[in-house]
Formats: sequence, structure tokens, C-alpha cells
Amino acid sequence: MFEQFSSAFQHEGHLSRRLFLTYAASLSAVPLLGQTGGTPKKISFSSNPFSMGVASGDPDHKSVILWTRLGPKPLEPGGGMPNHPVEVRWEVATDDSFKKVVTSGKTIAASALGFSVHIEAKGLKPDHWYYYRFQSGDATSAIGRTRTMPTPDAKPEKLRFAVTSCQHWEQGLFTAYQQMKRDQPDLVFHLGDYIYEYAAGRGGNVRRHLGPEIETLEQYRLRYCQYRTDPDLQAMHATCPWFLTWDDHEVDNNYANNISEQQGVTPAQLLLRRANAYQAYYEMMPLRASSLPKGPNMQLYRKGNFGKLAELFVLDTRQYRSNQPNNDGRGPLNEDSLNPRNTLLGEEQRKWLFKSMESSTATWNILAQQVMMALVDRNMKGETASYSMDQWPGYAAERQKLLEHIRDHKISNAVVLTGDIHSNWANELRVDDLKADLPTVATEFVTTSLSSGGNGSSQAYDLSDRNPCNKFHNRERGYIMCDVTPKTYTADYKVINEVKKPGGITRSRAKFVVEAGKPIIHKA
Ligand code: FE
Ligand code: CA
Repeated sequence: MFEQFSSAFQHEGHLSRRLFLTYAASLSAVPLLGQTGGTPKKISFSSNPFSMGVASGDPDHKSVILWTRLGPKPLEPGGGMPNHPVEVRWEVATDDSFKKVVTSGKTIAASALGFSVHIEAKGLKPDHWYYYRFQSGDATSAIGRTRTMPTPDAKPEKLRFAVTSCQHWEQGLFTAYQQMKRDQPDLVFHLGDYIYEYAAGRGGNVRRHLGPEIETLEQYRLRYCQYRTDPDLQAMHATCPWFLTWDDHEVDNNYANNISEQQGVTPAQLLLRRANAYQAYYEMMPLRASSLPKGPNMQLYRKGNFGKLAELFVLDTRQYRSNQPNNDGRGPLNEDSLNPRNTLLGEEQRKWLFKSMESSTATWNILAQQVMMALVDRNMKGETASYSMDQWPGYAAERQKLLEHIRDHKISNAVVLTGDIHSNWANELRVDDLKADLPTVATEFVTTSLSSGGNGSSQAYDLSDRNPCNKFHNRERGYIMCDVTPKTYTADYKVINEVKKPGGITRSRAKFVVEAGKPIIHKA
């Protein structure tokens, strides 16, 4: 993983015995569906309980998850909520004045899930836009806008979605979401580093995290609540449904399954921390009940589809991965990184992905995941190659298996979406990227960070001589806006000139197109 500041960070310590015992004592608080802790009481709020806005996600052709969270005091532990469950009503309409309500209901928000609400709005029409809102006591939430997918056998003419990742609160403002909203995507893919776990003041000075490095459930909750008070992030969530997945910073920098990058943290300690982090993640995101965590385990990889135009695979390359080879140092592709036992996906997810890709009949097969798949040598001078062991090069054998699978099973138009690296890349993928004479079998569009790293640089590293797979590279901040049709996939790299002060201007920096049937990246 490429984190500009990470070398400056040293962890202050590992999970204390106190924390271990606290977690053990709170295990009974790990939520069970339906176990909400009694009947709701009437409530009136002294300030807006919907301070973190609304969100929707994981749509299919007849349903979508609607999300909110009650917290009149979002920056205080407990969110300013009472010690009892609270009733929340919700409604979905075809108009934003809610004259034509198509479905509605009520549910209970309770402390076990941090007073979060996840509603599966069902029985909706395919390929339709809807409005939704929540009410509790005498308070009404902001209005969210969401949509369903076309039916699985539909042949839609176009799909527009945004790709974003890496939004460090302290290092930059989320201004680029303003332009993303104006771009009017159907969907957003967030590829991880939605929050950063670091202590206040350790990452930047644009604004400040609350509290120490986060480890407990309350600390993770508070960090998510702080991020979600951002008006641009809130507005983007209210604009369209999101598919979210995590990377490392939702738990701990560069963790791998149950292994911490910090010395002296045992797997058991990391799993306890992971359980806190995963629960807080589930609470904050518009995820289906199938993603409800069970202790330190959470099913986040999943698929969706936009008719026959696109099959969408959302992957999890953190929870099941083996430890980074070469002590996570950058280096050449040596025996350690080529070890066929190394895995980013884990066997179960890999089998699921391979099978799902084989049975897909979509024109475009889109893999939304975290770390760069192209074998990019990042050494700018000198002889020794420099590959990131936290990314696919550290898991080169599994990477090869995946690209061979795409080639051998003629998976239609595989496009890999990536975050993590805080810079823009467009790559053509081969079974072995070092062999330029091999045919390309897939393409990869890597989005830069939304804010992590502060204002970027318009000066790109010149790495293309060493890396025939790379067609574009840039180090500014921003996101990618993608337009998909039965004939073409267009990736528009949008960059913002300023994230350290308000008023940044987002513009198109470079635009690339891939024609269906030919995994070659052209300038649009
Ligand atoms: Fe990041
Ligand atoms: Ca990362």
C-alpha cells in the first residue's frame, strides 16, 4: 500500500489487557437481528437526530437498502441518544414531496447497533428512481434519492457510476463530491479507506480527528460519525445508491486477515479490534442483512448486476488474505511474493468469484476491489524492481490464476476498479504484465484518493518505460466517472485543484475508452 505518510507513523502500543477485557465483557452486545431490547418509548429530540443524513445501497431490480442513524449529538459517545430503543418510520415515494408513497413502515433503532437503521425497501419497480425519508419523534430526515437496477434480463443502453476511495479527514476536504453529485451517476463505488484509524493530529492539519487511534467499538463509531457529518459526503450519499467495500484503514493500516502490521499484537487481539471495526462499519453503511457481522467475521464480498449490461463483483481483499510477503517491504518479484500459497481473496471468495464470472452473461464484468492489480514496478531509477507487497504483486500467483481464468473462460470485458494508492492509473492487464507481447485480457482503472495526501501534484512519475501495462498515471486528487454502454466503457479521470481549502474546482483531467471485445485502453 502506498500511504505517503505511513512511514512517519509508529503505533503507540498494542491492545491493552483492559481493552481485551472490555471487549470480552461487551461480547453480549454483539447484535442479533430482532433482539432490540424492549419496546420503544415516545421521544422528542432537542436537536436534529438525523445529523448524519441518509444513505442507500446494494440495490437490485426490486429492492434497495435505506440507511440512517439517530444521533442528535454525533460527536459525543452514545450520540446523545437515550438508554432505550426508539421507533423510526420510513417511506419511499416516486416524488420528492411524498404525495405518491409506494411503500413505508416502521422499525426500531437500538443501542446494540448504535441506533443505526437498515431498511430493505422491497417490491419496487425495476430501473426506477425513488425518494425516501425517515421520521422519529417529531423529527424528519433529509430526503434521499435512490434507484433500483434494471431486471437481470434487461438490456439497458447506459450506466454511469463514480469510483472513489481514500478520504482522509485530516488531510483534505471532500469538495470533489460536489462535482460528483453534479455528474449525476446512477451508482457510486467506494473502494475503501472510508475512514482512517489514526489518532488526532497524526495525519494532517486541514481538520482534526477526534481522540486517540481507534480500537474500541465506541471509538470506531465516533470516527464514522465524525466523517459522516461532512456535508459533501452526506449530500453524495443522498444522491444515489452506493456499493461500498473496505480496505485496510477501516480497521488498521495494512492488516492482513488476523495479522497486524504492528509488532507485538497477537492474532486474537487483532480479531477483537477487527470485530469492533467491522461492527461499526456495518452500522454506518447501507448494507444488506447478509453483511451483518458475526464477531470478527463479516460477509462483504457480493455481486450485483445492471441488467445484461454489467455484472458487478464487489470484493474483499483484506479479511481473508495471507500475510504480505517480504515483511510488506517493496521489492522484486522474488520467491516469497510468487509463493502460490499467498492469497488476497481466500479460497472461498476466489472460488465464488471464478464461478460467478463463468456464469455471468453480462457484456461488462466489473470487479470493484481495493489494491492495484497491474504489476507496476515503482522504482524510478536503478536496477532493482520495486513492487508493492501489499498489492497484487505480493500475491502474484493468485493474480495469474485470476487473469488466466478470465482468459481461458473468455470472461466478457473484465474491468478492474481499484483504490488505495492515492494516485490515478489506467492499466492493461496481461497474465504476466512483464511480457508485453502477451495479449491483454482485462483493463484496470485505478482511482486516486478523494482527499488523502492533501493537494496532489500534477507532475506524474514517468514509469511507463518500465511498465508497458501502464497507459496513464497522475498524482492529483479526485475520482473517476465511468460511462458504460453495450459498445464502450469510458473512464473520465476527474481531478480537483484544491482540497486543503474550500472552493476546489474539479475538472476532467484525462478520458479513456475501452471498446467491448478489445481490452485495449485508448484516449477518448
Ligand atoms: Fe488510503
Ligand atoms: Ca489502503
